Amino acid sequence: MARYREAKCRLCRREGMKLFLKGDRCFKDTCSIEKRNFPPGQHGRDRRPKTIGYGLQLREKQKVRRIYGVLERQFANYFDKADKKKGITGETLLLSLERRLDSVVFRLGFAASRDQARQLVNHGNVVVNGKKADIPSLAVNAGDVITLREKTRKVQQIQDSVATVGGRGGVPAWLELDAAGLKGTVLSLPKREDLTMPIDEQLIVELYSK
Ligand code: SF4
Repeated sequence: MARYREAKCRLCRREGMKLFLKGDRCFKDTCSIEKRNFPPGQHGRDRRPKTIGYGLQLREKQKVRRIYGVLERQFANYFDKADKKKGITGETLLLSLERRLDSVVFRLGFAASRDQARQLVNHGNVVVNGKKADIPSLAVNAGDVITLREKTRKVQQIQDSVATVGGRGGVPAWLELDAAGLKGTVLSLPKREDLTMPIDEQLIVELYSK
């Protein structure tokens, strides 16, 4: 599957905020944006231009896309589906992204970043309700139980990642983690207030409504 392969810290600098794309490093002093909070590129050090109107809407969409590691076409599909559902479109969009299996694996702490989580899923290491689940975009449902393959559970990096999930914001209230058993349960579907990143989803709705 196609994915963004350039330096992730550039993406944070472009958006002017931490997008938490690199796991534990994002919580340390070595985070690039701590030292270089200006856009990448030759003229990045010049004053950050004030963004208004279309530019603001575009940046908000790019920010969310980058947080969840979703490509343009796929993101537009998420929007189309959210638009057809009952309820607040922007909220539905964000919550459907949050329900992605790779995002849930990251939230449970099995991986330190969504990128790592996606790799775990792609490589067939994740088990949902007793069956191998290797589709990162799979939407989890309330009651789903997420575990790892027997062999994968022994990987030290995964055990370390689970042990340090508290330092990366912890497990959200809609999920439950059994750290010793490396097992996660979806207690309920996520709510808007479970998403802590500063996102103005209405700007994305305005962008796609043009
Ligand atoms: Fe973004 Fe993390 Fe890089 Fe900091 S370390 S700039 S939060 S990806």
